[in-house]
Amino acid sequence: MHLPLRYEDETRITPIAELIAGNESQVEAEVISADVVFRGKRQLRVTVRDETGQLMLRFLNFYSSQIKQMAVGRRFRIFGLVRGGLAGAEMIHPRMRACDSTDPLSRSLTPVYPSPEGVPQTWLRKRIDRALRDVDIDDVLPANMRERHRLDRLKDAVERLHRPPPDADSLALQGRTDPAWRRLMFDELLAQQLALRAAREARADRHAPALAAAGSISSKLRAQLPFTLTGAQQRVWDEIERDLARAQPMHRLLQGDVGSGKTVIAALAAARAIECGYQAALMAPTEILAEQHFRKVAEWLAPIGVRIEWLAGRLTPAAKRAAQDATACGQAQLIVGTHALIQEAVAFARLGLAIVDEQHRFGVAQRVALRSGADGHAPHLLMLSATPIPRTLAMSYLADLDVSVIDELPPGRRPVVTKLISTRRREEVMQRIRADVAAGRQAYWVCPLIESSEVIEVAAATETFESITQMLPDLRIGLLHGQLPSTMKADVMQRFQQRELDVLVATTVIEVGVDVPNATLMVIEHAERFGLAQLHQLRGRVGRGGDQSFCILMFEEPLSEPARERLKVIYETSDGFEIARQDLTMRGPGEFLGARQSGMPLLRFADLQRDAQLVEQARDAATELLVENPDIARQHVQRWYAASNEFLTA
Ligand code: ADP
Ligand code: MG
Repeated sequence: MHLPLRYEDETRITPIAELIAGNESQVEAEVISADVVFRGKRQLRVTVRDETGQLMLRFLNFYSSQIKQMAVGRRFRIFGLVRGGLAGAEMIHPRMRACDSTDPLSRSLTPVYPSPEGVPQTWLRKRIDRALRDVDIDDVLPANMRERHRLDRLKDAVERLHRPPPDADSLALQGRTDPAWRRLMFDELLAQQLALRAAREARADRHAPALAAAGSISSKLRAQLPFTLTGAQQRVWDEIERDLARAQPMHRLLQGDVGSGKTVIAALAAARAIECGYQAALMAPTEILAEQHFRKVAEWLAPIGVRIEWLAGRLTPAAKRAAQDATACGQAQLIVGTHALIQEAVAFARLGLAIVDEQHRFGVAQRVALRSGADGHAPHLLMLSATPIPRTLAMSYLADLDVSVIDELPPGRRPVVTKLISTRRREEVMQRIRADVAAGRQAYWVCPLIESSEVIEVAAATETFESITQMLPDLRIGLLHGQLPSTMKADVMQRFQQRELDVLVATTVIEVGVDVPNATLMVIEHAERFGLAQLHQLRGRVGRGGDQSFCILMFEEPLSEPARERLKVIYETSDGFEIARQDLTMRGPGEFLGARQSGMPLLRFADLQRDAQLVEQARDAATELLVENPDIARQHVQRWYAASNEFLTA
């Protein structure tokens, strides 16, 4: 499975007169002269010729033994990149092999392997030749499956990639469009599907509390909501309600664009767990977001008598202890806090449901939920994400999740109007803020993340805060960044929420989840530095009430090409799915899913976008194999993942 990066064609000889600059070619020629010359440095120049012409070979580093080898009249097969030199065609450091004209030509293209430094190609080729000869690459896939999916035999495919015949199209091989690649990609995707299916089955064997009885808490919650659920919310709630009623742990991702109303669904699920006598945990990635959830769900659930505990880093040790105790003895019914806190120090009496908001580093969520099962039961797990997962990704990496999608925004929302403005026109932006605040609305001003240094980032945000305070002396302006003590953060946020502040200058700490419907203007400074998903999230902070909202993307010129592209996408598109698709194209699945951080195994051969159709085929094949040939399915997974058992059992 160590496959070539590219190939060299030593299956044919090109007459010197027909060499084309820029091509890699092989010639067969005899030495007519070999001289060491000085051009600032020693250089070996060898002139060779065949029946059609002469070629100059140049070596900048060489041993004296090499000079001896280049005896006049000696014949060589010479392979190298042809360059147009001053005195006609030349090659620099070609590969040379002494020969006579009866030596057979190579019968396959020569593979060039990725190799760590110090491992020569010839060494690798020899070992791989031996492996190809000795290892039995038997085909575990049944013949009818190979036929149906138009797949080569595995042995043929592997051999073809290592030792392609002379007539093979080396560009198709390199570009991975050769049919032999199909087989490997299919096998890889099939293994992925089977492994995820196995994880799903392992989950089905676990027991979870069946949260079935609809009691008074969820119905009271619904009755006192200031709105009715949208059709999409009702549909996803039906799906979740059905899952919760089962005695196997739910493992569901609730996806909905920013502002689509996921929180109320989470609250309903929590209410269901509680009315069935279990506890629910609601976790968010940041303290600001956790706090906001706490407020919101407390506003909804506390009046109906639900006991809610708040677990934050800034609680006094005594208060924290009290919250933990209430959780451990079962008095607390709903526990809200950050992922970290809840993971770290909480024992639940009867955890029935874990809800993880804005979580797209999936692995983490599973670990929390698995660890904290109550009385031998695994809790149900509901993950909320505003980052839409494109279909192919959902089908592959996340195939062990069920997915519900809220594909409709609450009524009365008006799409946010997006504007691109150069930083040189800052004054216009200030006027806009003045006008909006005069009309009774509020604004966010977001300063960019500076990855290299949080200190610089905070300094920059503080500076912006000061300059805006100067430019808008009559307005009430607040500052929010990651280095503030959390009590201060909470306080600033609360003042903004209660309209005691007109403008909130913030770093990306407000990126996720913050919900202040009266804020209708989002200014993003240095928008060119943000990623697509971030820009979309930030823009989603406005347009939450009935008023027309605006998002001003301020950019600094000159723009790099990728930055220009990102701004173009965000300017032209408000559909979260389309933005996610573009983001995936630009960044690749590893970055997109945060998979590198979570250690999720990535695909080596297949490309989810290019090979989307193959993903579907592999999925169908997995279903078929598991029903008809579970043994084969097991062997196949074993072959692909033998070295990474962890993934199988996760
Ligand atoms: P997100 O999906 O981004 O987490 P939220 O749950 O924060 O969205 O909801 C965004 C806003 O929409 C909130 O103010 C919420 O109360 C409101 N909302 C949710 N559902 C509805 C609905 N069906 N009708 C009207 N407003 C709703
Ligand atoms: Mg949210």
